[in-house]
Amino acid sequence: MLFKDIKCPNCETYHDPTLQKCPECHNSNELYKLNRVPKRAVFLHPICQIAMFIIGFAYAGMLFTEFFYAFFIRMIDSSDAQFKSTLLLTLTYVTMLIALLAVPLLSRRKLFLSKFNNGIDYIYGLAFAITLMAAGVLINALTSIWHTPADNINQQGVESIAKSYPLIGIFIMGIVGPICEELTYRVGLYSFLRRINKYLALILTMVIFAMIHFTFDAENIVEELWSLPSYLVSGLLLTLAYELRGPACSITAHACYNLIAIIMIMVAR
Ligand SMILES: [Zn+2]
Repeated sequence: MLFKDIKCPNCETYHDPTLQKCPECHNSNELYKLNRVPKRAVFLHPICQIAMFIIGFAYAGMLFTEFFYAFFIRMIDSSDAQFKSTLLLTLTYVTMLIALLAVPLLSRRKLFLSKFNNGIDYIYGLAFAITLMAAGVLINALTSIWHTPADNINQQGVESIAKSYPLIGIFIMGIVGPICEELTYRVGLYSFLRRINKYLALILTMVIFAMIHFTFDAENIVEELWSLPSYLVSGLLLTLAYELRGPACSITAHACYNLIAIIMIMVAR
């Protein structure tokens, strides 16, 4: 358990046990080494971690923000429903991104930004993106032995926006969405649970990440269930990317994977 603040033996101030060094006197933290805290992963205060999870969690912050903007969008004098829903989605995602970035930037700015200055992390991110693609192809090939795939709900939503507004589709689904999800599930949820236990954190993050990509719809439940394994595997790989190489790596992996998927949908039509 890495929740309780520890007392620095050198300067006697209290600090978070997940910090590599005492923020006051830069004395190295023995508990950090002892617990094998991942070096590249970023740990915020536990309350900040939970706050990020609540902000980004699909059915809390998202619905609230959407509800807020929907009120104003209703006043726009236009009958173009596709335009309105795209505008709503864009505003919701950008607001979420700002709120999610505000937490680390206001609480542990230096620590957070220091995780983005290593070029190798981005290269690893690219390698993880390729692994994600390969895993996706493999899982599709395996499940297609028993089941003929149709588009699941998640893909249909992306497709309809990508058709009418390709650039907004790429921006939201390929860049803003992945950053929001990595901040919510890796920097928020996973790092919080990681304070309790590494394996528990990995499994719970994987399951919750798969659940939010899963649409509970009686009509399409069978179709959705078949896509569950690929969500679980992508959740596992992205969490590993974060544990091993930090947020720069998992964001790169997630964004590249989504970008390739969106461009493939656009090219295919
Ligand atoms: Zn100290």
